[in-house]
Amino acid sequence: MSALEIKQLTKKYDDTVAVDGLDLTIKRGEFFGLLGPNGAGKSTTIKCITGIAQFDQGSITVMGHDVQKDYQAARATIGLSPQEFNADIFAPIEKILDYVGGYFGMAKGLREKRIEEVIKQFGLEEHRGKPFGKLSGGLKRRLILARALMHDPDILILDEPTAGIDVEQRHALWDHLRDLHKAGKTIILTSHYLEEVEKLCDRVVVINKGKKIADWDKAHFTKGENNLEKAYLELTRNDLQV
Ligand code: ADP
Ligand code: MG
Repeated sequence: MSALEIKQLTKKYDDTVAVDGLDLTIKRGEFFGLLGPNGAGKSTTIKCITGIAQFDQGSITVMGHDVQKDYQAARATIGLSPQEFNADIFAPIEKILDYVGGYFGMAKGLREKRIEEVIKQFGLEEHRGKPFGKLSGGLKRRLILARALMHDPDILILDEPTAGIDVEQRHALWDHLRDLHKAGKTIILTSHYLEEVEKLCDRVVVINKGKKIADWDKAHFTKGENNLEKAYLELTRNDLQV
């Protein structure tokens, strides 16, 4: 069974075709990079996978669950770190974690235990009582990641997780992601930092204007003198169809 199977996905916003007949299969345990210029349709694809947006055509299954017919089961397998921060600015860290645990049907005792685990894992001990609105950008990112992992999902989807955080925090986040990958999580990452994707991902898909223009193992992008950034620029310039 694949972790994610997208078939002929099309999503329009009025006249804008944000995703245009996209096919995508991601294996379990893969560390997968989704690249593309601004407006390519990455976030829209993620919104369709996670049920934030409805789509016009095609199908999506996550860990064998159809996201339209079996939304709750599909959504429960995913931890999402969205591109835009979305948490109540007045809610303290602990509350935000507790709330998401409740959303996924975790009993109170289990939530309490899990909150301690993720708070420790992401070094949030000193900040646990602080409201979201008072956290620095790096802390917000850590919390969003902790929140995504609260219900221990099989799949982690990260939409530009390192945008606007400093170098040290970025390296710390990479370490977390490597550990999660080693622990068997399937990770889907979108990022503007090609270097980050090159370091972390096993496989990379490039989309442009809602269509897939490349789907290769990382080694294919980085062979010989090439690096991912060079290969990526060439692809998006030429916009070759595969
Ligand atoms: P990416 O994440 O790759 O930068 P998006 O998925 O955010 O791209 O956007 C894809 C296209 O859909 C863009 O043309 C964008 O302007 C459009 N779009 C995204 N969200 C909306 C929305 N809520 N309403 C209208 N158009 C949207
Ligand atoms: Mg986006």
